Amino acid sequence: MEKRKVLKSGEFLVGEISANDIFIPEEFNEEQQMIAQTIRDFLDTELYPNIEQIDSPDINLMQTILKKAGELGLMGISIPEEYGGFGQSFITQMLAAETIGAGHSFSVAFMAHTGIGTLPIMYYGNEEQRQRYVTRLATGELLGAYCLTEPGAGSDANSGKTNAILSADGKHYILNGQKMWITNAGFADTQVVFAKIDRDRVLSAFIVEKNFPGVIINPDEHKMGIKGSSTAQIFYNDVLVPVENLIGKRGEGFRIALSILHMGRIKLGANVLGASKKSINDSVKYANERKQFGVFISTFGSIRHKLAEQVIKTYALECAIYRLSKDIDDLIENYKNQGLDKGKASVEGISHYAVEAAILKVYGSEVLDYVIDEAVQIHGGMGYSAEMAVERGYRDSRINRIFEGTNEINRLLVVDTAMKRALKGDFDLFGKAAELAAGMATITDNKRDNESYFEEKVRYSKNFKNLILITINGVSQHFGKNLIQEQEVLNNLADMMMEVYIAESMILRIQKMETIKGIDPVEIYRSALDVFVYDAAYKVKKSASDAINSFASSEFKNKYKNVIETLTNVSGINVKDARRKIADKLIEDNSYKF
Ligand SMILES: Cc1cc2nc3c(=O)[nH]c(=O)nc-3n(C[C@H](O)[C@H](O)[C@H](O)COP(=O)(O)OP(=O)(O)OC[C@H]3O[C@@H](n4cnc5c(N)ncnc54)[C@H](O)[C@@H]3O)c2cc1C
Repeated sequence: MEKRKVLKSGEFLVGEISANDIFIPEEFNEEQQMIAQTIRDFLDTELYPNIEQIDSPDINLMQTILKKAGELGLMGISIPEEYGGFGQSFITQMLAAETIGAGHSFSVAFMAHTGIGTLPIMYYGNEEQRQRYVTRLATGELLGAYCLTEPGAGSDANSGKTNAILSADGKHYILNGQKMWITNAGFADTQVVFAKIDRDRVLSAFIVEKNFPGVIINPDEHKMGIKGSSTAQIFYNDVLVPVENLIGKRGEGFRIALSILHMGRIKLGANVLGASKKSINDSVKYANERKQFGVFISTFGSIRHKLAEQVIKTYALECAIYRLSKDIDDLIENYKNQGLDKGKASVEGISHYAVEAAILKVYGSEVLDYVIDEAVQIHGGMGYSAEMAVERGYRDSRINRIFEGTNEINRLLVVDTAMKRALKGDFDLFGKAAELAAGMATITDNKRDNESYFEEKVRYSKNFKNLILITINGVSQHFGKNLIQEQEVLNNLADMMMEVYIAESMILRIQKMETIKGIDPVEIYRSALDVFVYDAAYKVKKSASDAINSFASSEFKNKYKNVIETLTNVSGINVKDARRKIADKLIEDNSYKF
């Protein structure tokens, strides 16, 4: 079999891969599908019948259901077998995260425990710490939390004031400080706490047990949504933390915190995918039941437009999620082959894809907000009723743009990380950008006669990439080192990069699917792709224009205008009919089956 081509993080801007190089959800194996089904059954039997009570809020019930998930083995999916888990691939972990994502506040509690609450110890802890804590976190015997944020240290996470001083006998760190917004705080047995030792510039990470004297947990916050998830402030008053509970090395905490957040971001992308699919199901079911003017509202073009857009955006997100998951699995495998232990190999593999992690977090959370907002609209007045699932979904969705790094911070990371990786030599971004900019006067859209359906789509995506490179060249030349201060322009670049990564993932998935299944079953997906790429062209055009108009003189503006027009030129399609086809399938299936 031919070797799969894998790009480095951010390299998608300049590199090409083919359809055969990506993993698509149609390739899930039986075991993976079985795990997803087990989780769906769990949500149906244990969660949904209790969701009102959980969100009342009842954190004891939340705790009980978390424990049940542990008994069923769901908390061990990411944990190697030698530490009591099932050592599943990253793709499987993502499928599990997607499925859990439909679980409202339970999803937040579960993900905080299995992800940020457990994995710092799994990935960076020593053997003794793993045996002592991870083996019990993997089964749900212990529940975990992750304590980074402080009243004065949110986005600027390294600025925290929580402090640890070595005791005179050298046996303990004496911990003092305050954390806030801590998920699972009300019941977590273990907390991964980030604090500075003495006057260190950077954080260290510690395992703190709930019962250590001096750990004071405030009552839960009253929140807009995810009401059943416990979120509270925690105070540390002269808490004696055994020196054995330092995770990794002194000063390694900030790195640990960031690596874990990369992982959290990718998994959040999967969670919101699951939540989006659930919102679509709620939307179409209602639209197929509600009659106005003597007909079902699903027959109205305005409603069908909304249903189709919900599907297109969600499907596009899914393409990118599983493309990235396979890239991560392969890199983890590479690191293992180089001799890294499973924990280290995983964290290195995940952290490498920091650009794509931020893309999935931002893009996914904004897709869910769009989808659930339209779900409420499709429900009309009932969408505003607390009796309906979409009302809960609307409130619960909003947090995803705030935690795991706000979307503002993550947009900056998309661009900054890609540029840094390029400067490090991972791929040639600036050379290629300069070359394209030098040829601007003669640029064409590279259209060829008789190009196939997919050749055309791939050409569009390549043109969008070239426009990003030309824009990067322009803004870098103009702003130089001050580019970092121009957040509006960086946001324009991030938006273009996200659009291209998602569009390319969708093109390649559908192309691969067509080679497997033939053209007929894939026709509906072509309609989705037509709409997505057509819209992407307009979005890329707007972002590039905004970025370039932010600095270019009138003489240059005209030059750029021509380039922008050429590189975002896509043929007109009947988006109304394309969307209707997608809506028809959804309405007929009465659930999301794409
Ligand atoms: C329900 C909930 C659960 C949470 N769970 C946890 C948890 O388990 N553990 C944990 O440690 N934390 C947790 N958090 C904290 C969360 O990660 C932070 O709220 C988040 O990182 C933002 O920090 P902040 O609230 O201090 O906002 P701020 O950092 O004050 O940001 C305010 C606004 O300014 C913007 N901003 C800030 N800096 C910049 C910049 N450099 N450039 C551009 N814009 C900027 C932000 O994007 C935002 O729009 C949770 C929060 C909530 C609400």
